[in-house]
Amino acid sequence: MLSVVVPVFNEEDTLRELHGRLSAALPPVEAWEVVLVDDGSIDGSWELMRELAAVDVRLRLVRLSRNFGHQAAITAGLEASRGEAVVVIDADLQDPPELIPELVSRWRDGYDVVYAVRSERAGENRIRLMSISFFYKVLRRIAGNDIPANAGDFRLVSRRVVDALGTMPERARFLRGMTSWVGFRQTGVEYRRDPRYAGSSKYPPRKLLRLALDGIVSFSTVPIKLVAWLGFAIVAFCLVVLGWTLYTRFFTHSAPQGWTSLLVVVLLLGGVQLLSLGIIGQYVARIFDEVKERPLYLVAEQVETPRVELPADESAFHAAP
Ligand code: UDP
Ligand code: MG
Repeated sequence: MLSVVVPVFNEEDTLRELHGRLSAALPPVEAWEVVLVDDGSIDGSWELMRELAAVDVRLRLVRLSRNFGHQAAITAGLEASRGEAVVVIDADLQDPPELIPELVSRWRDGYDVVYAVRSERAGENRIRLMSISFFYKVLRRIAGNDIPANAGDFRLVSRRVVDALGTMPERARFLRGMTSWVGFRQTGVEYRRDPRYAGSSKYPPRKLLRLALDGIVSFSTVPIKLVAWLGFAIVAFCLVVLGWTLYTRFFTHSAPQGWTSLLVVVLLLGGVQLLSLGIIGQYVARIFDEVKERPLYLVAEQVETPRVELPADESAFHAAP
């Protein structure tokens, strides 16, 4: 069986169309279910989801107790899914459901992770696209080359990858990095990313930046090493300047002077120190987040079709109501 996991946050305008396109695209796959995860929507999404589930038994619904964010919503969907393979797809139809049969056929060829690579993105802001591509460059540079660029969360993962993700309890979730970390056989399929079907992006720059930081900080300690190297370079530089100063003071008649240069050096050092503390603080804050070991999300409500049963296993960070 195939599960399709869809995180939903205030998508009342797209849900009907999404359901229609999924129902049209999935028949080549014999058995499937769709797990819709309502990530604390405040519009009519939940009511609409219930309405759809009342007429379509292949829909299963999970409602989180508040907005936990895209990555947490996907995690909730993965945990609730029961298929041998699971496809994660956005609710806004930027990722075409029509690609799913192709992902499935690659999985049947023996791949555990089939990610969809956006060869083209229509209808998105230039600055946003440029920042995203810059982010991927940095990430691949410092976290090793195995995180595919331009692959979002639209992907198929096999059951054993879902299980592996379930054993990774980190709160700073960057699922595209995590699925590439687990290994197994991975491959990509290219597609053209459409503009959003309706509504506006639920990823304001603030959330996007947060995701980018999660990606970098949880996949590499390079920034913290850079801080150490920077400190080392500054100390070396200062030792040279100190030597030169002492030399001119004691062995020549002209003592070095310059209030301005002194001030610049002091300010520069102060800045470097604050910046370094900030970088280290990023890691410390994340350690703090992780050691609290709070659940990744809380489920407020679940809607299942009467005929099917809940999965028996309850993993450690799945908090059922
Ligand atoms: N989403 C979510 N929780 C959030 C933000 C977004 O579940 O806090 C969902 C949203 O409903 C959509 C997907 O995540 O299905 C991707 O969001 P969006 O399309 O707004 O992001 P963009 O494509 O603009 O980066
Ligand atoms: Mg989108």
